[in-house]
Amino acid sequence: MFNAYESDLSTLEPQFTQTTTPTGKVNFYSMTLEDLKGFLKGRGKEQFRAQQIFKWVYDERVTDVESMSNLSKAFRAELPEIMSFDLPPVLKHLKSVDGTQKFLFDMKEGNSVEAVLIPSEDRLTLCLSSEVGCNMACKFCFTGKQKLKRRLTTEEIVGQFMQVHDRLGEGQRISNIVFMGMGEPLDNPEAVFKSIEVLQNPFGMMLSRRKITVSTSGLVPQIKLVANARVRLAVSLNGSNDDIRSKVMPINKKYPLKELLEACKEFCDQTKDKITFEYVLLKGVTDQLEHAREVVRLLKHVPSKINIIPFNEHPGSGFERPSDEQIEKFHTELIRLGAHVLLRRTMGRDIFAACGQLTTVTDRPETMDISNSKIGSTNERHFSSGQLSL
Ligand code: SF4
Repeated sequence: MFNAYESDLSTLEPQFTQTTTPTGKVNFYSMTLEDLKGFLKGRGKEQFRAQQIFKWVYDERVTDVESMSNLSKAFRAELPEIMSFDLPPVLKHLKSVDGTQKFLFDMKEGNSVEAVLIPSEDRLTLCLSSEVGCNMACKFCFTGKQKLKRRLTTEEIVGQFMQVHDRLGEGQRISNIVFMGMGEPLDNPEAVFKSIEVLQNPFGMMLSRRKITVSTSGLVPQIKLVANARVRLAVSLNGSNDDIRSKVMPINKKYPLKELLEACKEFCDQTKDKITFEYVLLKGVTDQLEHAREVVRLLKHVPSKINIIPFNEHPGSGFERPSDEQIEKFHTELIRLGAHVLLRRTMGRDIFAACGQLTTVTDRPETMDISNSKIGSTNERHFSSGQLSL
């Protein structure tokens, strides 16, 4: 009985985005340093100019070419004719009572995506979107209710980061990024991994690869790309056996748990890293103690930690959040069985920026009253694909 989106799962092979420039100019943010060197070389320019431009734009935040004083006058005149520095415009910027901020970006032709900035004591994490809509149709996810419209380009992903960066307060710096906003990042691998190359470049934003997490609903063949990029992996589990997981996440029918966990083991062997498994607690569906025991058995051979995420309500989801008592019982059972587990404080619920609440759909209020909510328990934060557990 899983819906119309199910047929789309047959088309989940890697698909690559092409950067298009309506003005005929190349967008600077679409290029890695190597791309820019190649671009300049093709125009007879010295390749070291690429580093100079990277430093101006990413380090100094100068995009007025006339101010790039170490470029020749002739080059300064030529550059704006062949390159643009446009960023996706911010349509809305909302702030939660808990400090979480949500940004809505215009991605042209009526498309928009959201990114969320989440503060904590020791980090400032930006959750980025990778697609407009999503074909994975996870049942608990608001984004999943909107079929994929298109995959974002590299400059649209880097552009989300730069727009948020440009609005930070004095002394603030984005320390971590997570690809857990709208869309399945491994369904848009070229743009996602290229944007990672840009953002981690020493002449770019200098983000450590260890502070970049790509989250997947379980696109098994693409998991090796995360290992190759030497960034961290999060996997949305959300079901303790194939029966439940297939009902909650249709992708499980294409890549069942056995295949998924084998790919996860290979990832750990190759990277010597742990994987974060996200597990959404849905009342009566995934929140029973027998489910906790099954989860621990499933992950026995995968170096991992488990983030349990009490479901965040959104219009028409059809699921309920378990009681605080049941959440605590589930948490305690995982700990009793020796799992490394985090139960997170949910953030940004009042501005619909929490796990599974991101959307481009506009027929809902921008905020909701959460003053009576009893929310969560710790300051630990990790995130999961499109679930955006904050
Ligand atoms: S949870 Fe992620 S993969 Fe699943 S529908 Fe939402 S955005 Fe897509």
